[in-house]
Parts: sequence; C-alpha cells; structure tokens
Amino acid sequence: MRGSDAADAGAGETSDEFAAVPDAFQRLWTPHRMVYIQDGQQPHPDDCPFCIAPGLSDEKALIVARGTHAYVLLNLFPYNTGHLLVCPYRHVATYDQATPQEVAEIGELTQIAMRVLTQVSNCDGFNLGMNQGRIAGAGIAEHLHQHIVPRWALDSNFFPIIAGTKAIPRLLGDVRREIANGWPGVAGSNADR
Ligand SMILES: [Zn+2]
Repeated sequence: MRGSDAADAGAGETSDEFAAVPDAFQRLWTPHRMVYIQDGQQPHPDDCPFCIAPGLSDEKALIVARGTHAYVLLNLFPYNTGHLLVCPYRHVATYDQATPQEVAEIGELTQIAMRVLTQVSNCDGFNLGMNQGRIAGAGIAEHLHQHIVPRWALDSNFFPIIAGTKAIPRLLGDVRREIANGWPGVAGSNADR
C-alpha cells in the first residue's frame, strides 16, 4: 500500500478527480502572483508595485509605454510571454473608479498593445480582462490593471521559442525591448532605456 500511495502522490492531481462543467474559456491560473502579497495584505500605495513602477526606469520596471493617465508594463509573472498589464497611474481599485480620461487611455493603450504584439510576436489572438476584487482573482486588487495575454494557435513562433527556458528575468528584458521598440509614435524613446 505504501508503494501505491507513493505512486499516487507522485502522479499529482488530475482533472478526472474533480466535478466540473466544461466551457470554452481558458483559465488564468496564476497562484505564483501571490508573491506580490505578503501575509494576505493588499499593498498600500507606498509599496504598491503598480505605483512604484512608474518611478523606475522602463527597463527596471519592465515598462513598454507611458501615456498621460496610464502606462503599460510586462507582467513579472506572465501567463504567456508578452503578457502585458495596462495600469492607471492613480491607485484606484476598480474600473468604475477610473476617470473618463483614464478609461479612454486604458482602451487606447490596449488597442496599441494588441497591434504591437501582433506585429512583433505574430500572435493569433488575445485574452483581455480585468479581475475586479480579490474574490475575482486579482493579485493586486487595490490597483486597477487590465491583462493583455497574447495567444498563439501553435507554439512554433517567435515568443514561445525564445521563452523556452526558465531564464525569465533576462528574457523579460528582451521581450520588453522588443515590444517597446515596436511601440508607435515615440521614436524609440522607450526602446533601450
Ligand atoms: Zn497602486
């Protein structure tokens, strides 16, 4: 029995063991994002990563573009390579708290990000979305952020190939540079900082 138990433990969980209703949605299971949160506390603006990032260099903060009311950065813990987040500069929690100007620019930056990711990574589709509140899965519920997750029909393209290793920090820097270089209208000002 011990051998059997050990084998079971080694096999891990399988979806066959859980009741479920299948649907067409992809899941963004990202428990590793919990490292943003210590002791279950949501960050105060003074130590909120999305408030701190704009004060850092683009390279250090993995920022690919800065707007007037919102900015775009790579997710430090991507679901997919090129996983971007669009954040207002203000520390507001939910979409209904964003000003019309912030809503407009978040939308505009999302559109540009989709075009840039399509151009530089040849992705086939996207998952866009905002998790509103911790109950809805937001890792940093106190600071609004929209996810832009590129998707590929096949994994035989540029980003998955270069992401085929776990050397994430350096690769994130490379990916940031690729996206920043592809961002329009800034004459490369975001590119190599
Ligand atoms: Zn914040």
